Amino acid sequence: MLQEFLGIEDYAKYPFLPESISYALKRNPGLTIDKIDSIEIMGFDPGDVLDATRKRLVTGIRTGVSPKMDDVHHDVSLVSFIISMIAVRFTEDQVIYSRFAIAEARRSESYLLEEIEKNPRGREIVRAIFERISGVKLDQFDKGFLMPLPYYMRFSVKGEESWKLVNRWVYMGNVYVKHSELAHMFREISMNMIVERLKNMPKPNIKGSLLSLVKEIEEAKPKPRTFVYTGKMPPCVDYQINQLKQGVNIPHSARFLIATYLTNIGWNPDDIVELFRTAPDFNERITKYQVMQISGSKGSGTKYMVPSCEKLLALHLCRRDETCDNIKNPLQYGRFRKQT
Ligand code: SF4
Repeated sequence: MLQEFLGIEDYAKYPFLPESISYALKRNPGLTIDKIDSIEIMGFDPGDVLDATRKRLVTGIRTGVSPKMDDVHHDVSLVSFIISMIAVRFTEDQVIYSRFAIAEARRSESYLLEEIEKNPRGREIVRAIFERISGVKLDQFDKGFLMPLPYYMRFSVKGEESWKLVNRWVYMGNVYVKHSELAHMFREISMNMIVERLKNMPKPNIKGSLLSLVKEIEEAKPKPRTFVYTGKMPPCVDYQINQLKQGVNIPHSARFLIATYLTNIGWNPDDIVELFRTAPDFNERITKYQVMQISGSKGSGTKYMVPSCEKLLALHLCRRDETCDNIKNPLQYGRFRKQT
């Protein structure tokens, strides 16, 4: 049972766990949206709770990482997560959903890593939390964990060399996973859990302070410049760009496809960086560096090629339709199109 391991401090660290939410709601039976401005929340001033919520939301949406808030009471921190969920749900904006979810997932991920490093029972706690969110039973092994192969295949990072099975140590149907890799999987699973929960919540009817908070988070949301591009993108590229615009956390391989394709058709790196601004984990400095590398303006000076259609098919990125004809590389798209 997870409750055996967790206390209020842990609920505040991992507020999206069902146990954390039940705890907060049990402690606040009178908490309804229309009372957020006026009632005392577990004996705390509503103004303090709203300040904590504002800090959590605005920082998270703006920077992509929610603050830890170790300076506020754990109860306040936990309730601020629930109020944040209500405000985010109200926006009905997929980019804000994803941005908030990854910001929260990263915050909890850093606690998870801290747990392993500093807490003598850390690995036990991490194992229990991971099992709760993923349904996967892990075994502790050496300086990491053993994960059953089918789950490893499901949660591993696709298209990354170091995650490929041929580069892994496999023992009796289990794959060895380092702490940092488990934390990465934890982040992805938590993010999806938060987004799913937001999508399943009924739309709240909010007013007062919460409504002004919603306006603040809408302003904090990253806004890319809009581009009008002529010509038609290949379906694989077009699909991933649209996913990005909706705030979906597309895989590394899809980002590589977008960046190499746009570089090779002549987009300048700054415009490509802008396109990634709605990625939930967007970081301007890192994205710029990666795009410059791909375009050959940094590093080896070699411009990276667009992966072949065959490779993209193997990576599950191909979305072939009749407009693709028999091309071998997305760069050929359009050139061999039949005249209709
Ligand atoms: S056939 Fe090639 S260009 Fe067309 S969707 Fe697939 S990968 Fe993209």
